[in-house]
Amino acid sequence: MRYRCPCCGYKTLEGPGALVLCPVCWWEDDGQEDRDASEVRLTVNGQLSLKQARVNFAQYGAADPRFLPYIRKPLVTEM
Ligand SMILES: [Zn+2]
Repeated sequence: MRYRCPCCGYKTLEGPGALVLCPVCWWEDDGQEDRDASEVRLTVNGQLSLKQARVNFAQYGAADPRFLPYIRKPLVTEM
């Protein structure tokens, strides 16, 4: 059972808040979720809030356009 990335929504993570980079959107899951999505935590995701990362993913296909060279398409098992 995999955990859904809070940014792109694909099941790419082992568990919540594990500080793992999502390979599909390049958001690093630091436990941020809906309740504090607009907060800029200045931790692993730098200036990026989860809310902004979601907007970027919808628009560019990555948590930030500068991550585009690193990401990959979601696997069928991650849908
Ligand atoms: Zn993701």
